[in-house]
Amino acid sequence: MRKILSILSLFLTLCSNSNIYGKSDIFIIAHRGASGYLPEHTLAGKSLSYGMGADYIEQDVVLTKDDHAIVIHDIYLDEITNVSEVFPHRSRQDGRYYAIDFLLSEIKMLTVTERFHHQSKIVIYPGRFPINTSKFQIPTLIEEIELIQGLNKSTGKNVGIYTEIKFPSWHRRQGKDISKIVLNILSEKGYSKKSDNVYIQCFDPIELKRLRHELNSQLKLIQLIDDSSIPESDADYAHLQSIEGLKEIASYANGIAPSIQLVIIGRDKNNNFLYSPLIDNAHRNNLVVHVYTLRRDELPPFAKNYSELLRSLLTSSGINGIFTDFPDDAVTAKSKIFNKMEYD
Ligand code: CA
Repeated sequence: MRKILSILSLFLTLCSNSNIYGKSDIFIIAHRGASGYLPEHTLAGKSLSYGMGADYIEQDVVLTKDDHAIVIHDIYLDEITNVSEVFPHRSRQDGRYYAIDFLLSEIKMLTVTERFHHQSKIVIYPGRFPINTSKFQIPTLIEEIELIQGLNKSTGKNVGIYTEIKFPSWHRRQGKDISKIVLNILSEKGYSKKSDNVYIQCFDPIELKRLRHELNSQLKLIQLIDDSSIPESDADYAHLQSIEGLKEIASYANGIAPSIQLVIIGRDKNNNFLYSPLIDNAHRNNLVVHVYTLRRDELPPFAKNYSELLRSLLTSSGINGIFTDFPDDAVTAKSKIFNKMEYD
């Protein structure tokens, strides 16, 4: 009986991946907010992504000195804030300013801006929001959840949160258990069951296993996968993409989030995108596949045309979700494609 149920559930998953019923269950995940338009991980950017119709909004989480969970992509403060001007003497020996060395009250004194290189000060995406203009702050995880839940109440929608635990082993070496703190916050805010509208993502498979088996989290867990150059974990990402590796992931997680380069590996003889077997292999293990990161202003090397890439991901790939800096484009394309309107 159990086997029949699992085959049935796999069949339903596969059906929902395709557009045979003229609808799509591909989630549009706002990567660090509407970060193509407003500085990443600011409440302004999160609000914009909500208004653009994202299904999920992403939070990267790091801890402060006084154990507050803040929403920021790096363990450093110096590539998105004015920390080197406000606290010029607070860098470590390597010249970097670490969030974990600052109290929340100090972090709240900083202004967030578009991402720049901490040494050269060169802006990473020059076409985006102008640097050092307007006023943005680093939010806490609690503030961001309250924003999204508040919008859910006032709009009647049910947008989910998609929380990444950053550098768990590094946090442990600094004497802090980031996973426990994040789980406690999520639980206090009403996210504790598998059916709750949240995903937890992490690059570190050891931490994901710990979340599932030691901290007994019931939440949906996503194994992030990149090539081996990721500094967040020394996991064997080539192994994790193998049939054996995916089987292993299915024992502790509900899905994978590979980078787009691991999913599209070139062009076929008809010049269509060539997809790697990773998506099908993941689905065979009942794992959903959420791909990162689609950016209009930074196309992967195999793609020349943003619309073509977006259309292919939405119609031909079989994926279940896309992280994007431009949620409006993905939401519009998805709606046009599945309403069979002309899309270019
Ligand atoms: Ca992330």
